[in-house]
Amino acid sequence: MTEVVKIDPSHLSDDAARSVIERAGAVLRHGGLVAFPTETVYGLGGNAFDAEASARIYAAKGRPSDNPLIVHIARMEDLDLVASQIPPAAQVLAEHFWPGPLTMILKKQPDVPAATTGGLDTVAVRFPSHPVAQALILAAGGFVAAPSANVSGRPSPTKASHCIEDLTGRVNMIIDGGEVGIGVESSIIDLTGERPMILRPGYVTEEMLAGVLGEVRTDPAILADAAEPPEKDAQHAGLRPKAPGMRYRHYAPKGHMTMVEGEAAAVVRYINAEAEKQLAEGRRVAALVSEETAASYDPRIRLHIVGSREDPASVARVLFDVLRQCDAENMEEIWSERFGEGGLYRAINNRLEKACGHRIVRIQDED
Ligand code: AMP
Ligand code: MG
Repeated sequence: MTEVVKIDPSHLSDDAARSVIERAGAVLRHGGLVAFPTETVYGLGGNAFDAEASARIYAAKGRPSDNPLIVHIARMEDLDLVASQIPPAAQVLAEHFWPGPLTMILKKQPDVPAATTGGLDTVAVRFPSHPVAQALILAAGGFVAAPSANVSGRPSPTKASHCIEDLTGRVNMIIDGGEVGIGVESSIIDLTGERPMILRPGYVTEEMLAGVLGEVRTDPAILADAAEPPEKDAQHAGLRPKAPGMRYRHYAPKGHMTMVEGEAAAVVRYINAEAEKQLAEGRRVAALVSEETAASYDPRIRLHIVGSREDPASVARVLFDVLRQCDAENMEEIWSERFGEGGLYRAINNRLEKACGHRIVRIQDED
């Protein structure tokens, strides 16, 4: 029922690759679903102008239907066909960051189905840079609605094997184009308000966006200190994220996950001490750690070295895969360091906070 086909992104003009793209495009044109690689994570694509295809995407993911999809295009001139009242800022952002991992929220064209936009009068649009994604979008007629190709709630897929795990029997085709390069979802910026607002932090950072647009704000609900219950966090009380998808539990492994924040050596000491007790109770304990700290951990902890603290891109690339490995290994207790702040760490910390259901321990400085 689900056909898995391999494709080498660097040999897309080969006959075999062209025939795969042609067939996958036909599946999409006829209302079917295809999982495919993008530079951020794998997408679960359907024809964006086909309300029934969008309904199938929601069903395949088990996703609430008020959580809109991102429409992917592969030609600048197609933007006018999905979005209207396009402000100058959109043009400027497109020149700097498209094709690439940036999604813009714009007023939608009337013929974009409500099923695709979760009933909103706005539409999320992205022009991805991955060659397989671009070829597929063009073969499909230009407009592919695609959320991440995971079952709702699970970590986003960064390899075809993750899509196979989640979507076998639920989609027509899975295109295996190897591992993605970035590993966290696109940044989302809303351009329909008075000032541009980041709704989801991603690979294109606040600093990069501000460098092009001047000041940009981030949806205060994203920054809310969710470790505190909303009633205690007066400044952000009652805030609801503007991107509907950011309201849902997400990325979570099956085990009980906790993030520990503070000076690196103190974090290691804390995790070692807590893990010691859990190991003594016979529990299966894993930890997401950095190259810099890995050697200081209790060797009985199942360690996942996610990358260097100095190189957030290395952390982003493997984060979701490591969370899935924790599931595959039935880890019951999962600890994670907080690896850094600012820049790409905003996106990484946002995903980690969601993965651990906002269970965060802060270690105070010990003077
Ligand atoms: P995903 O496809 O899994 O990366 O999720 C898409 C994200 O884009 C979700 O968080 C959606 O809520 C968000 N999104 C899509 N369309 C809109 C829109 N029109 N307004 C605000 N957020 C949107
Ligand atoms: Mg997603």
